[in-house]
Amino acid sequence: MIYHYSICVNFRVGLFIFILKNRSCSRRTDANIMQRHVLHQTHMACISRCGASETTTHLFLHCDIFGSLWPYIWRWLQISLVIPADIRQFFIQFIHMPGLPRFTHSFLKVIWFAYVWVLWKKRNNRVFQNLVSDPSTTVEYVKLHSFLWLKSKHANFSFSYHDWWKHPLLCMGVHDLVNTFWCFTSCTPYVG
Ligand SMILES: [Zn+2]
Repeated sequence: MIYHYSICVNFRVGLFIFILKNRSCSRRTDANIMQRHVLHQTHMACISRCGASETTTHLFLHCDIFGSLWPYIWRWLQISLVIPADIRQFFIQFIHMPGLPRFTHSFLKVIWFAYVWVLWKKRNNRVFQNLVSDPSTTVEYVKLHSFLWLKSKHANFSFSYHDWWKHPLLCMGVHDLVNTFWCFTSCTPYVG
């Protein structure tokens, strides 16, 4: 199931990340195009109806609706970050999390990609199907997608979803921040 998941998703996610990077790199963002009066303002408005233009940085970082889910990820990871003004800067800051060792970078990268992938799908669900999901459900999807991607990428990532859901840092091999009373019995920590 995980192998099948990997084949189906990897191409779409790779394409999405490519588009996202080019969209954030491009100077012809939606806001810029709007300033040139190529598109009407209502076409550029954030789908959440927060009143702002839907730029990549706004959607994933600063939107009161879509961008407000990061604190849930902080809580899950037991970390705290100040969100910067630019999404590419935030990506670098996130995967090089201060205080966490180098071997966590690949895990954090997967979590970041899972977050923007899930949020993009949530955004499209609202655009095309008028579907709205609550923040906690969205965050659960981030946990699930990141877990499935890690399983498909790393054959020796042997933790269960419950382990990942409850103790992501320990699954990354980080022990210093883990309280000793946490009971972890399923497998030995993975070091990538
Ligand atoms: Zn918005």
